[in-house]
Amino acid sequence: MMTEKAPPIREIRINPVVPCESVLVSTARGMRPRKEEEPAPRDTRKHVDKCPFCTGNEHMTPPTVTAAPDSDNWQVRVVENLFPVLGDDSTSSNLVFGLQQAIDGYGRHEVIVDHPEHSITIQDMSVEHLVTLLEVYRDRIRALYSADSRIQYVLVFKNFGPAAGASIAHTHSQVIAMPVVPENVYNEVAHSRLYYEKNRQCIFCSLIDEALTFEATIYDRESGSIRRQIGVGQYVIERGRHFVAIKPFASRYEWEIHILPLRHRSDFIDISDEERDDMAVVLKRAMARLDAVIGGAQYNFFLHSIPHNNDFANCHNSYHWHLEICPRTSIPTGFELGSGLFVSTISPEQAAARLRAVELD
Ligand SMILES: [Zn+2]
Ligand SMILES: [Zn+2]
Ligand SMILES: [Zn+2]
Repeated sequence: MMTEKAPPIREIRINPVVPCESVLVSTARGMRPRKEEEPAPRDTRKHVDKCPFCTGNEHMTPPTVTAAPDSDNWQVRVVENLFPVLGDDSTSSNLVFGLQQAIDGYGRHEVIVDHPEHSITIQDMSVEHLVTLLEVYRDRIRALYSADSRIQYVLVFKNFGPAAGASIAHTHSQVIAMPVVPENVYNEVAHSRLYYEKNRQCIFCSLIDEALTFEATIYDRESGSIRRQIGVGQYVIERGRHFVAIKPFASRYEWEIHILPLRHRSDFIDISDEERDDMAVVLKRAMARLDAVIGGAQYNFFLHSIPHNNDFANCHNSYHWHLEICPRTSIPTGFELGSGLFVSTISPEQAAARLRAVELD
């Protein structure tokens, strides 16, 4: 295991799935090109009288789309977004003007109130509750795809904390059904298809295998000293029966964690009950580890799953769905936004070691 005394690293790491994305890992002291994001002060309120998402205030939101287990005793509640970024009120037909193309902003935007308790964190929710939440995610994605054949992607995501863009403090997720495949998903699906065509293997499965079993020592040619040691499970944070949580070798956010099904699966909506139950455990434990290490993290998480789009109908063997958790511990600078080269001041191996070292009950 690497320790804090590990020699400084300065290297550009290429994202194995999307090679045009890379990260500059620069752990030398003083290499702090950006401002740290303050952890959000922990809100411990269980109920807030004026909060539209708290129980008793259901009249303050648009009508309930669906609720689990039911509207009167809801544990998870889905409502239309009051300020949708995409809507079904068609404003214009697709516009083409010179090189400027626009697609009608058709879609659906819903808010999922994750829990009746105002500021409960994911790690403090019960496993049973997380099972219900994941079930609601799956049901909404399914319903939105089947409601309209123009929908090519349904994105489920969560913003937690003001730095992560959460405008309402009450814990919630969002679902956006879109008429296009978002670029991040597009790149992953397209690049993993190329990998599959070459290697007849899913790159995500290969990465999981590598994370679980790979072991190597890289020596410096000149001095013979060890440059890097890649140990068994070095990137693994948490392992369940059906899921694994991994700290990617090249990720844009310092504490980024990906949760993937161990068995190859392209579409989140096909998750079995048994898998869903295990994912709830792995998610809760991964979030508890993050909270123990970085405390009060503001983060985004989002589901990446195969788009429902004819162009990608042949990608079921090459694409592997996953949940990406991106804690927002620092504010990207002009260098990062201008170059797309994100800077990580902690090595992913050290981050993984610290997350793994947390003792959970
Ligand atoms: Zn509330
Ligand atoms: Zn796979
Ligand atoms: Zn992804």
